[in-house]
Amino acid sequence: MEKLTQIKECAKLLNLTNLKSYVDIFIEKADLSNMTYQDFLLKVLEEELELRSKKARERRFRSAEFTVIKKMEDFDINFQQVITQKQINRLLELEWIDRMYNLIFLGPPGVGKTHISISLGIKAIEAGYNVSFTTMDNLMYCLKTKEISRRSKSKINRIQSSELIIIDELGYLPITREEANLFFQLISSLHEQSSLIITSNKGFEDWTELLGDAALTTAVLDRITYRCELFNMSGKSYRLENRQSLF
Ligand code: ADP
Ligand code: MG
Repeated sequence: MEKLTQIKECAKLLNLTNLKSYVDIFIEKADLSNMTYQDFLLKVLEEELELRSKKARERRFRSAEFTVIKKMEDFDINFQQVITQKQINRLLELEWIDRMYNLIFLGPPGVGKTHISISLGIKAIEAGYNVSFTTMDNLMYCLKTKEISRRSKSKINRIQSSELIIIDELGYLPITREEANLFFQLISSLHEQSSLIITSNKGFEDWTELLGDAALTTAVLDRITYRCELFNMSGKSYRLENRQSLF
């Protein structure tokens, strides 16, 4: 067998996919330069690692299931008066995930709650964390159907194994007593295991009505707010202020 083919075979068996695809180019480049054996081997290994981490990042990104892509660079800090640039910078350092702190963004529609949450989620993925994004509505659906739907089960498993879980839009749709209980069980199981970002258009005072039970709401809030940073995002809707009109 030709040596190049043999190398490709070995690379395949060792799961060195980058080497397998590009061994010809690697060798060609090495021939043209005055690389040492060390340089050459190091380059092959480094590029393999780089490809692996890129693929893992893409996998984490797909598994997170963001509904839209939002970047912090596109967030106009001056549009709102609640969060400062300094706070954003602190959040972007992601130390709060290691310390298992939760972030809660409360406020009316359009003030940037989802934008900030997704930006932080993307940043966390780039830094190597496992992240799950879900709307409250979808979370309820998955919790209720996890025994009968493989897709729901895998979403819940994914949530359980994430270091950061973003639960968007708590409070937009009414939830039943059974759903509130399932939500409490999930929150309990995640407590001190991972970080949560929760966004809601309802203040804590309205959560009892939302979850339908004072004791349950206290228990949920107790866990969520134990180690948490709360942002009350009052202010104008960015959507309304920046309405894109056709004419
Ligand atoms: P919320 O989740 O609070 O309802 P969103 O985060 O969905 O609001 O924001 C609504 C729209 O306005 C989105 O397209 C978002 O990117 C944009 N937006 C909101 N606040 C800002 C901001 N401060 N700078 C730039 N875009 C913003
Ligand atoms: Mg939103």
